[in-house]
Amino acid sequence: MARRADRRIAAAVQWLGLVRDVGSRAARSAAADARDAAALVLRDGVHAARRPRGGAVGDGSVTAAEIVAAARRLDAAGMMPSKSGNLSVRCDGGFLVTPAGLPYADLTEADLVQVDAAGAVLRGHRRPSSELRLHAAVHAARPEVGAVVHTHSPRATALSCARRGIPSFHYMVLMAGGEVRCAEHATFGTEALARNCVVALEGRRAVLLANHGVVATGATLAAALTLAFEVENLAGQYLDLLAAGLQPVLLNDRELAEAAAQFADYGR
Ligand SMILES: [Zn+2]
Repeated sequence: MARRADRRIAAAVQWLGLVRDVGSRAARSAAADARDAAALVLRDGVHAARRPRGGAVGDGSVTAAEIVAAARRLDAAGMMPSKSGNLSVRCDGGFLVTPAGLPYADLTEADLVQVDAAGAVLRGHRRPSSELRLHAAVHAARPEVGAVVHTHSPRATALSCARRGIPSFHYMVLMAGGEVRCAEHATFGTEALARNCVVALEGRRAVLLANHGVVATGATLAAALTLAFEVENLAGQYLDLLAAGLQPVLLNDRELAEAAAQFADYGR
């Protein structure tokens, strides 16, 4: 019975990405491929956005509509103050990304920009997001990621300004794959920020960016969106604890693994 429970916990922990199957040759090879792809993007940089070749991205596809709806939802919830934040969804040969500097209330499907894996514009009449490098680097480094949501959500951003992550004080950190790290600081829009983000995201689905905001990822846009909201929620709870002068008691590895097993059961 105990062994069966242990196996279930081990499987759940692996499923949640708390540990990696580093012993597997296939896993090592996939990880090396992802690392090489990320290194290529970071070395060569994201191509300067060329003049668009015409053609609207917003052709009524469900993905474009979903991105616009998600951006508006984040904006309405106060997660993207002052036109900050941006979203991308992987598509054939690259990804769709929100444009730079457009109020979300005015955003339409036609304003989205389609870029290749290195960030060169394929379709669209807008300039892509100023965090194009970050989106390109995450998509290149993490083949399992289908969507990247970047916000300046208030409470998580406040925490990031102390250059602190979200520790494992609540089992919901498992949604992010464990404690949420805070990436080392770099100027917004730079390759250094993209690199720091990818490093801190290792084995996780979300990170804080120092003095900046949040990056949440998911296999789908819906999953990335849900995680962006949960990171904000967790950051708020953590800040409330600190503001009350309380010292959060962190869950240990065993407690986290048991919670992970419950998640696995719950999702079955
Ligand atoms: Zn930002």
